Amino acid sequence: MRYLDEYRDPELARHVLDRLRRTATRPWRVMEVCGGQTHTLVRQGIDALLPAGMRMVHGPGCPVCVTPLETLDRAMAIAARPEVTFASFGDMLRVPGTRTDLLALRAGGADVRVVYSPMDAVRIAEAEPEREVVFLAVGFETTAPANAMAALHARRLGLANFSLLVSHVLVPPAMTALLADPDCEVQAFLAAGHVCAVMGWRQYEPIAARWRVPIVVTGFEPLDLLEGVLMAVEQLEEGRTEVVNQYARAVQRAGNRRAQHLVEQVFRITDRTWRGIGPLPASGLELAPEYAAFDAARRFGVSGLRSAEHRGCIAGAILTGAREPTDCTAYGTRCTPRTPLGAPMVSAEGTCAAYHAAGRTATPTGSPP
Ligand code: SF4
Repeated sequence: MRYLDEYRDPELARHVLDRLRRTATRPWRVMEVCGGQTHTLVRQGIDALLPAGMRMVHGPGCPVCVTPLETLDRAMAIAARPEVTFASFGDMLRVPGTRTDLLALRAGGADVRVVYSPMDAVRIAEAEPEREVVFLAVGFETTAPANAMAALHARRLGLANFSLLVSHVLVPPAMTALLADPDCEVQAFLAAGHVCAVMGWRQYEPIAARWRVPIVVTGFEPLDLLEGVLMAVEQLEEGRTEVVNQYARAVQRAGNRRAQHLVEQVFRITDRTWRGIGPLPASGLELAPEYAAFDAARRFGVSGLRSAEHRGCIAGAILTGAREPTDCTAYGTRCTPRTPLGAPMVSAEGTCAAYHAAGRTATPTGSPP
């Protein structure tokens, strides 16, 4: 069995896979909602090892990919201002906006800096009071606590030259929107372990009950993913629809209360447009009114931007699991990691990038028994 010898415990991996093949009697569809998990599944060829006909459906789990185009265009309009130092994680720099990307802006002279934490951006604001320092605060529930901490710290320091351009997204509303689509073929979910380490899994319980889907909180190692798929398939075969936790070494049902408290202090829930998917109610976080002074969108008042996706990119269908990268006519030809037309080909967590890195030309549908 290819790749299994590379697992932390190859014997256990073989055992889990054998059990999965003995358990599955139907071509089940299981969606992972984490770009990191997508990359591991594809890199390790786990989806090709599944029982015949069974498919992993790759969901909207890449935070870079779902950041709305309007936010990126706004980021670039702010970053282009001469008084601004624009700080971001490195994976946002090559994501294409309507006309350009942050890397090209930097090459043209804009002060765009890569940081490894929002607290780095706070430190820059402290050290360079003559600069307006803006941090691009995007991502799922995983990155929100650190961004909240940056806002709290900046307020404590009394920094008037620090702000956040916020575009956080929340996983449960996206899962609900996918399930509400009458064309949805997903029968079970793997919930991302890092999101649940922060938020716990209580939010998933009403989703599992209402839509009658098993949800398995799953870790990130290949063996975690194999076991997560097995736990989902066991439920499907037995007609159970519960939230269960494969990632017990890191996740508790209530999550991390201190991290949640940080988020509750600084942010509030808002409607959010997901790139490639569209507007989803109550699916994002924005700064609470008490922190409005740190809102870069208000501070710089950027308006009148006209955002438009590249016409050849089917990222929306990729992000909802309706299509695969190999269905895209631009995949591997006009669109490559060096010449990306859409965010899923840029990001380290994008599905198109995962397929391209693995040299895929077709989507696997499991192995013969
Ligand atoms: S291959 Fe490129 S153009 Fe096609 S969906 Fe992916 S990112 Fe978009």
